[in-house]
Amino acid sequence: MPLSVFLVPIYTRPTPGSWSQLVSAGLIGGKGVPASVRAHPRLFLTLTAPSFGAVHARRTDGSCRPGPQPSCSHGRSLQCQTRHDEKDLKVGSPLCDACFDYVDAVLWNAEASRLWNRTLEQIRRRLAAHLAPGLDDNPPGFRLSYLKVAEFQRRGLVHFHVVLRLDGGGEAFNPPPRELTTEMLSIIIKDVVGEFSITTPHGEIAWGPQFELSDASALERDDLRIAGYLAKYATKSIDGTKDFARSFRARSNITSLNGSSHLRQLALTAWDLALEPEFEEMNLRAHAHAFGHRGQLITKSRHYSTRFLDLRATRASYMARESTGDPMSGTFIFEGRGYDDPHTVEVAEFLHWLSLEAKKSAPRPHATAGEEQ
Ligand SMILES: [Zn+2]
Ligand SMILES: [Zn+2]
Repeated sequence: MPLSVFLVPIYTRPTPGSWSQLVSAGLIGGKGVPASVRAHPRLFLTLTAPSFGAVHARRTDGSCRPGPQPSCSHGRSLQCQTRHDEKDLKVGSPLCDACFDYVDAVLWNAEASRLWNRTLEQIRRRLAAHLAPGLDDNPPGFRLSYLKVAEFQRRGLVHFHVVLRLDGGGEAFNPPPRELTTEMLSIIIKDVVGEFSITTPHGEIAWGPQFELSDASALERDDLRIAGYLAKYATKSIDGTKDFARSFRARSNITSLNGSSHLRQLALTAWDLALEPEFEEMNLRAHAHAFGHRGQLITKSRHYSTRFLDLRATRASYMARESTGDPMSGTFIFEGRGYDDPHTVEVAEFLHWLSLEAKKSAPRPHATAGEEQ
């Protein structure tokens, strides 16, 4: 297989610090966002995919599926007494390949970003209805901003880590109307995520039952914790397989991979589905390395915090000053993409850590904005 590498100028590559600055600016201010946003309702949300078949797992107590389990229709046991090591390739792979619904799993990945966009639209609509019942023509004065990171679970299904923040309307970062509290936002999100689905030509697409919601204002001395985390993270080495780091050019690129046969099968399913006329317009072949997922790995709404472009421009002008004055003559390095994009993994881990911290230090389930102010 010919080795092809994506080359990007080093200064355009977001550093671990810059991605996390982007996240933390929207939470605690900085990079043009005022520190007063700390008093706004801010939530961490994790959304997952539903089940497409029983898979090996590594639960918090280290077990997989120890209890009595029925056999599947292919006569295979769905019980597993093994305590899997974290590196065990079995984790995330199905107990029975024939039972796992590869087609629906790939189609779920393919539609997940659209499901998110429609879910967000629905949350905004319900907030508007809460603020001004029956008033459809004049949109009420609030803005729901977000930053979303897509991350792949071991089973090859995408899940989303999202930071949400409520502001007032307009261009400034004013507080939202008093009626729109953290508690109200939490209730609406739980309702919408639990019941919302989109209709596609291939069936209904909905979120999985496992989802997490925590209040970012429960973070104590959030600025220090975030800074401490970043310092710790900056020294962490990032490695991992590059098997799914870029799109495939031939089916044999996939079949020749070593590693998890489950992930290979997901990629092959996406590749082969593209041959069928009804899936043609989904361009699944170009996304076989992401198991069908077609969205960006990191997305944000315009007002969440500084733009990716601004971070790049700052770095480019800095590099230009430091070197010969030509920002294009720099060192070129490999930029991983897709499944193993280390920056996405980093931001995803950062968000996951923040949400765990928020949960840990939460003095109460949901603080209201009223209590904050
Ligand atoms: Zn197992
Ligand atoms: Zn089976």
